Amino acid sequence: MIIKTLEVGPLQSNCYVVGCEATHKGVIIDPGAEAERILACVKECGLEIEWLLDTHGHADHIGAQADLKEALPEARIACHETESESLADSNKNLSAMFGLPMTSPSPDWTLSHDDEVPVGDLRLQVIHVPGHTAGGLAFYCEDGGDGFGAVFAGDALFAGSIGRADLPGGAMDELLNAIRTRLLSLPPETRVYPGHGEPTTIEHEARFNPFLI
Ligand SMILES: [Zn+2]
Ligand SMILES: [Zn+2]
Repeated sequence: MIIKTLEVGPLQSNCYVVGCEATHKGVIIDPGAEAERILACVKECGLEIEWLLDTHGHADHIGAQADLKEALPEARIACHETESESLADSNKNLSAMFGLPMTSPSPDWTLSHDDEVPVGDLRLQVIHVPGHTAGGLAFYCEDGGDGFGAVFAGDALFAGSIGRADLPGGAMDELLNAIRTRLLSLPPETRVYPGHGEPTTIEHEARFNPFLI
């Protein structure tokens, strides 16, 4: 499994370029900003991008989506149904609040809990993790390389922290419940690739994350 991390934009969001080594099919998770850099990474990896996947609809995770959709017309956009409103609305995706209103093209596919996104020989399992936003998603691949799984957690779970629940659509009890029941239940050695900051593991967060212990 190919996993490239690009820290993009003023909020240093993690954009992940993910691909299947055998087929060179790929996806871009959270194209937050800096389309040119993301495209250069895709080219360098030799990937054919099939999906633009959004963990949620905040501007710092979808800011480059319109440009990438134009540059990669074959790539389809997928997010949770609830988040599609944020893609189309600069108030809901918070970009208007930062004085740089933007929108994204509509999703081609709306995702639900337990859906699977095929990426060549890989399968990304869709996990609904509400609480930072109502339609927050994580994407889990059983075979993330080295025999361990990988989960792309968006702004739900960070190394040593969790996402904000005080923005529209947020709810702290839902966030904690979803993290506990749907993320911490993954195999302990699973690598966590969060929406901001350094990667971690499920085991490390279950043992040391001050919000979860
Ligand atoms: Zn967010
Ligand atoms: Zn974010």
